[in-house]
Amino acid sequence: MDAPPVGRWSAPGRVNLIGEHLDYNGGPVLPIAIDRRTDVKARLRDDGRVRAWSDLAEHSIEFGADVEPGEVTDWGAYVAGVVWSLREAGHPVPGADVVISSDVPTGAGLSSSAAIECGVAAALLGSIGVDVPPVEVALLAQRAENDYVGVPSGSMDQLAAMCGAEGHALFIDTAATPPKVDPVPADWTADGLRLLVIDTRASHSLADGEYAKRRAECDTAAEQLGLKHLADAGLDAVLRIEDPVIKARVRHVITETARTRSAVRALRERQWNQLATLFTASHASLRDDFEVSAPELDIAVDASLEAGALGARMTGGGFGGSAIALVPADRAEAVGERVRAMFAHAEFAEPRTFMVAPAAGARRDG
Ligand code: ADP
Ligand code: MG
Repeated sequence: MDAPPVGRWSAPGRVNLIGEHLDYNGGPVLPIAIDRRTDVKARLRDDGRVRAWSDLAEHSIEFGADVEPGEVTDWGAYVAGVVWSLREAGHPVPGADVVISSDVPTGAGLSSSAAIECGVAAALLGSIGVDVPPVEVALLAQRAENDYVGVPSGSMDQLAAMCGAEGHALFIDTAATPPKVDPVPADWTADGLRLLVIDTRASHSLADGEYAKRRAECDTAAEQLGLKHLADAGLDAVLRIEDPVIKARVRHVITETARTRSAVRALRERQWNQLATLFTASHASLRDDFEVSAPELDIAVDASLEAGALGARMTGGGFGGSAIALVPADRAEAVGERVRAMFAHAEFAEPRTFMVAPAAGARRDG
């Protein structure tokens, strides 16, 4: 018998332009898929075994296609979680060899986790020949991350990885079931601007304490206010919450929701200064009200603004990871230099800076 054919798929990392910590509050988010991808080569096996290799991991992993939560840990959990989640959804995999390579930095807040999950999901579904709509694949990948890996993340990362469109941001209504994804042209490049990512290389782990704590605080607030989604809260909600910490969290969710809606308008109208000003205001809210920033992120933002960025903010869950800055093309280098100088001065590890552009979501490459 001939060996089954090898197919090639890929899925991108993402940058959230604005709408941070809103995907689990039923709010709007505005991510782009980025031009950094996780490639997945796959070939089916008929012996019930799944093997996976990654150029980012020292060892390959192997497990049964009947894998259950808890059986595979470390990076293999992202692969096993997808196999499990697909099976749970009625798409069992008979076994597979999966070879992964990626240029999405891991643990940098650019969602390498959704990239690997969605890349593997697209590859396995494509290999077994089932056609599942991208939003549905995103939710299966999210389930792998939530219920197999054990990270209680919202749906934004996987939706961006699956639904990304070149030259577009995605305006996502996370309150809708299923979430509604609306591509919006995002062409600042034509107007001489670039989106710079500053990977602070400060370590963060969404899997541990603080992220879950913020979710719990938001759930508490929604319950006190009698709301299904905290993002639906009116401004008066802030007055009705007594606890000063919860009050600040609610203020972030309310103001960030309003900023994200304004940002979509600014994006459509190519009002770049306005968009960038909203970025900077979002950062202040995440730093002061939601308290998920980090000294490295604050310095990255401040240094970018000093060196000529139109606006800047942390992106992703926070506690390290990356910041983004919207910069005039001819200032991009100076912004990077300034950030590096400020990091050196603060005796932080050297940050990585690179430009990103809005790119396509998961796809078959061959
Ligand atoms: P982020 O999603 O911001 O990059 P996470 O902590 O959510 O950070 O996910 C990073 C983890 O995902 C890595 O530690 C690793 O376990 C796994 N991972 C992501 N991409 C790959 C890859 N290409 N190969 C192997 N593991 C990966
Ligand atoms: Mg992640």
